[in-house]
Amino acid sequence: MNKRTFLQAGLAVGAMAATAPAAALAQAKAEGRKLGYAMLGLGYYATQIIMPRFSECEHSKLTALVSGTPDKLAKYGAQYGIPEKSRYSYESFDRIIDDPTVDIVYVVTPNSLHRTFAERAAKAGKHVMCEKPMATSVADGEAMIAACKAAGRKLMIGYRSRFEPHNLDAIALARGGALGPVATIVADHGWTASDPNMWRVKKALSGGGSLMDIGIYSLNAARYLTGEEPIAVNAMESTDRSNPVFAEVEDTINFQLLFPSGATANCVSTYSANCNRYRVSGPKGWVEIDPATSYGGQTMRANLDGQAKPRTPPAVRKSQFAGQLDHLSECILTGRDPIVPGEEGLKDLRIIEAIYQAAREGRTVKL
Ligand code: NAD
Repeated sequence: MNKRTFLQAGLAVGAMAATAPAAALAQAKAEGRKLGYAMLGLGYYATQIIMPRFSECEHSKLTALVSGTPDKLAKYGAQYGIPEKSRYSYESFDRIIDDPTVDIVYVVTPNSLHRTFAERAAKAGKHVMCEKPMATSVADGEAMIAACKAAGRKLMIGYRSRFEPHNLDAIALARGGALGPVATIVADHGWTASDPNMWRVKKALSGGGSLMDIGIYSLNAARYLTGEEPIAVNAMESTDRSNPVFAEVEDTINFQLLFPSGATANCVSTYSANCNRYRVSGPKGWVEIDPATSYGGQTMRANLDGQAKPRTPPAVRKSQFAGQLDHLSECILTGRDPIVPGEEGLKDLRIIEAIYQAAREGRTVKL
């Protein structure tokens, strides 16, 4: 794409944004126009969970691949019909600036690499979808937001639970008053980590242990269920440093959050147990999901009239993954901001840093 066609493409999107959002989406659909994604980092989550979901999308399609492994580029390129000119190595990635088939780069690498790839994508004029945690430090998260702003491009974080029907229903119940004012949340997230060689337990790549990887779901849920930002944090860590898995990062780190309304959250984050659930309670009732933030299989119970009953949330048209992918495309087509922008990822990172500080210093940290 030369400078002129690049500017024209920008103007076309800008003109669309000026029309009403629904009309812009209908027009894109009528024209069969879907925004193109480049997947960057072809590991488990990208290839096994996300890439198969483009077939469900209304406004998004897979148009490019970026990987450090030529065999993966060949394999997935053939599987998804990606032409060789849209298959990039990490070294040739910056040439994506000239690839008109790519609107969005989806960064799915180990955590500490998110910043540099997001910055390079923005510099190439692409919008950015970035996996959680958005980065391994507040400073890196701020830099990513600044890079996308400077390039006039959107940045969204892959908080897929915000597109999952059980979680959406729990949010509506909790924030809509069905439980009365939210008093307590319990949220437990963990899995059993046993491989001392995986990048998730190498601090330089992960930024931290269970909290960066899975405990972030307890934290993010407590925030989206209350719709509030915590004002104080307590935390306690338990890690067997003689276990080679935990030579560099924490195992269990449990934390408590206090919200301005007086609501509290007790949260589990662990690499030593399999758990994935939350319950939110108020004086009028409670709702729980178990598993809550998994890829599928959510089950829900609620007690809204003195009796605990199974609950089925309103149906949605597409999976949480397709919903997440299409949300960013829709935001670009309509000129809106994503519901989970870079700033949302940054809020989690600030609290994560406070949780680590609270555990280290053995005291409540005020936010
Ligand atoms: P993975 O190990 O399966 O894949 C990581 C990919 O990054 C691999 O293809 C690897 O080759 C590549 N890579 C590039 N540079 C690397 C380096 N220096 N060291 C190691 N690998 C390197 O990991 P994953 O499970 O796909 O996780 C990737 C990202 O996605 C992480 O940020 C993770 O937190 C996130 N994730 C999110 C979800 C979710 O549900 N939202 C689920 C899983 C993972």
